[in-house]
Amino acid sequence: MCGIIGYIGNNNPINILINGLKNLEYRGYDSAGIAIKNEKELQVIKSVGKIVNLEEKIKSLKVIESNLGIAHTRWATHGKPSEENAHPHTVGKVTLVHNGIIENASELREKLVKEGVIFHSETDTEVVAALINKYYEKDPVKAINKTLKEVKGSYALGILFIDNNHLYATRKDSPLIIGLGKDENFIASDIAAIIDYTNKYILLEEGEIADITKDKVVVTKDEKEVEKEVHTTNMEKDAKDKCGYEHYMLKEIMEEPVVLEKTLKPYLEDLNKLPSLTDYEEIHIVACGSAMYAGMIGKALLEEYANTKVEIDVASEYRYKNIIYDRKTLVILISQSGETADTIAAMRKAKENKVETLAIVNVKTSTIARESDQKIFIEAGPEIAVATTKAYILQVGIMALLAYKTALTKGLVKDNDKVLEDAKKLPRLVKEVLDRKDEYKKIAKEIYTKEDIFFIGRKIDYATSQEGSLKLKEVSYIHSEAYQAGELKHGTISLIEDDMPVFAILTDDTIKDKTISNIEEVKSRGAKTIIISNERWNTNDLQVVVPKISEYFQPILIVPTLQLIAYETAKLRGCDIDKPKNLAKSVTVE
Ligand code: GLU
Repeated sequence: MCGIIGYIGNNNPINILINGLKNLEYRGYDSAGIAIKNEKELQVIKSVGKIVNLEEKIKSLKVIESNLGIAHTRWATHGKPSEENAHPHTVGKVTLVHNGIIENASELREKLVKEGVIFHSETDTEVVAALINKYYEKDPVKAINKTLKEVKGSYALGILFIDNNHLYATRKDSPLIIGLGKDENFIASDIAAIIDYTNKYILLEEGEIADITKDKVVVTKDEKEVEKEVHTTNMEKDAKDKCGYEHYMLKEIMEEPVVLEKTLKPYLEDLNKLPSLTDYEEIHIVACGSAMYAGMIGKALLEEYANTKVEIDVASEYRYKNIIYDRKTLVILISQSGETADTIAAMRKAKENKVETLAIVNVKTSTIARESDQKIFIEAGPEIAVATTKAYILQVGIMALLAYKTALTKGLVKDNDKVLEDAKKLPRLVKEVLDRKDEYKKIAKEIYTKEDIFFIGRKIDYATSQEGSLKLKEVSYIHSEAYQAGELKHGTISLIEDDMPVFAILTDDTIKDKTISNIEEVKSRGAKTIIISNERWNTNDLQVVVPKISEYFQPILIVPTLQLIAYETAKLRGCDIDKPKNLAKSVTVE
């Protein structure tokens, strides 16, 4: 969520900063700004809306010579998206950019106003700038350190001081790395932003402060120097390019076969590489958004086939609820970015209660990956489109393998050879499903003018419906809801109207007949049903039929069809597919 980039070196920072901001665009934002400086002057330029607006504004101005700067894309939490509220913010000698939320901002603001500070924005961020300025005498690190003792909340900060030509950075609960180049150094929200310049980086831990010049990085905690490890990423430079696809979302969906192979293969060769869930009496799955729906599939599989009771909750609820940990529990956290603020809080709650945690994450350097006791990495590579596709499929793949391993340990797997064979076929079968784009385009044409759509299914098919519905509403802005097929008649069926599309997911043999009756119920009230199934039905409804495979992996063949239908529908509606309105990629604020 939002992006930070900073540069210090021998070059003019503007192009590097703008390029970095563009690489971070996928995280979602509503305004952007930069600050550049030299020994004498500082220049701040900001604009509302897309980064091109900022670029245009920079072109129209006379800019100062410089080789030091910070830049920011803002996703507003305190105060509307406006030029005044856009970052960087300057108070006195201090100019900074901030990602996160300062929770005690209004209290601090009140105090500072009494001390005579005049604020120019509604942001929580300006309060941090004012505090650092208040404590700044000669030593920037001392001033930052004092400020950190007073602020509560989450932050990644890039900071400049008017009378000094260093770049400073610190973080807590929001991501920030330091990129190391030759005679130049960077700060960035993630490595993708600076991969064009360097693949070496340092991870800043909570509360550490970095003092950065073009050839040196000094990291301190409580003013004592800390030895830092230098990491090297193997991310390819072109991993963040569209490779000829019209949108990242499409590119990432088309990558599903390859990333599935990469992620599942080591575990299919040796299931012992996966943690054992049978060591625990209770399993909790905690996540947000699509990751939560991947968890729902895991719960359905674990309960149905591995006879394992699972509690599931969205992280924003779990973190504040009274969770009763009275049995040996494992908390499974699912997050693509590993920086989801609510999921981090849920993880820390489990740890405070001495409960073991297992993270399923994509970003290996993330907070969740670092702090969780056990971890399973999905190999999605960078996921740029805000709406997750390939990472979700991999999360489901891992949950399926965990359920399968648990069932195997308990002696509950009937035809083991078939399950393994199907697992190995997955990349090829997903590719087959993805290649049938004309079918999805045809369905998209049927639904793109509608304003309300339902998805129905039972048991695991309900969990799959949830993701289908979320994907559609995220990218096409069509209102859609997923319902347990049997629940519709208890109220919601009153909303069914003539020609209203209803997607029915039909894969679970134990319950198909019941869902078929529910399809009849909505059809007799005028709905136009679209059946997504693993067998062909003798009806004149629109149908998508995917290959029938082991029940552990069936959702992995259904969801890509729903992703492509959502994509094609959004395209017909002219939506900004990779950056849907109001959404951010990694939700690093509460
Ligand atoms: N809370 C800050 C603001 O509203 C920063 C938001 C962000 O992370 O972009 O300006």
